[in-house]
Amino acid sequence: MAEVTAIQKAIDYVIASGLVNMGIVTNSRSILQTLESAIDRRAIIVDIKTKLQTYRNNILLYWVKARKGQWGNERADFLAKSTTEKDLLDVEFFQSTRQLINASNQNMRENWQARWLDSRKGIWTKTFYEKVDTKRICGDFYFNQVLSGHGVFGLFHASMFGKPAECQRGQIIESVSHVILECELWRDLRSERPKNWKNKDLKELVPIHEFRSQASATVKALYKTRSMDWS
Ligand SMILES: [Zn+2]
Repeated sequence: MAEVTAIQKAIDYVIASGLVNMGIVTNSRSILQTLESAIDRRAIIVDIKTKLQTYRNNILLYWVKARKGQWGNERADFLAKSTTEKDLLDVEFFQSTRQLINASNQNMRENWQARWLDSRKGIWTKTFYEKVDTKRICGDFYFNQVLSGHGVFGLFHASMFGKPAECQRGQIIESVSHVILECELWRDLRSERPKNWKNKDLKELVPIHEFRSQASATVKALYKTRSMDWS
């Protein structure tokens, strides 16, 4: 864009100064190709093409290979460098469609993240996932109950439907952690756990693939006992 803009400025300068038979020299082959292409409909490209058409006999574009030591090349480098030291901008580019889409996606992610952190909903899930992520999809019906805390657990049923919150084995509240980490009823399903899982909490275990399938199986087993109650 900087090079396209430079060519546009040079053309405008030639026209405004009433100069004749001018050549504009660039080492950017891609710009010349862009100006020859019929597909590019960007306003700045159309503007350059129109002016070149109108001043056909006065302004010609040339391509040269970038070469060290060439006067124009050194001069262009010098001007480009001195521009980066300016405090104020001379030219502001319009964003391309791709840049607009990226900016909008970024904006959406930031809003989503802010709402996720502020929200009082999903507090349980937030202990596992502080950051939102469009690529994280978990389609496991049972494991999603671990992540959400919603579903078959006594604690959830107590808060939603006023049912007893206790585990089927006794007086302990049937929370997600109880079912997955402690409950005697599902001890067999936990028998193959590596020893080092003992010191980990749910948050540390959730990312482990093997843990997820075990936990999913546990919730499924609990679910079966519950659906017998329901029928
Ligand atoms: Zn229990």
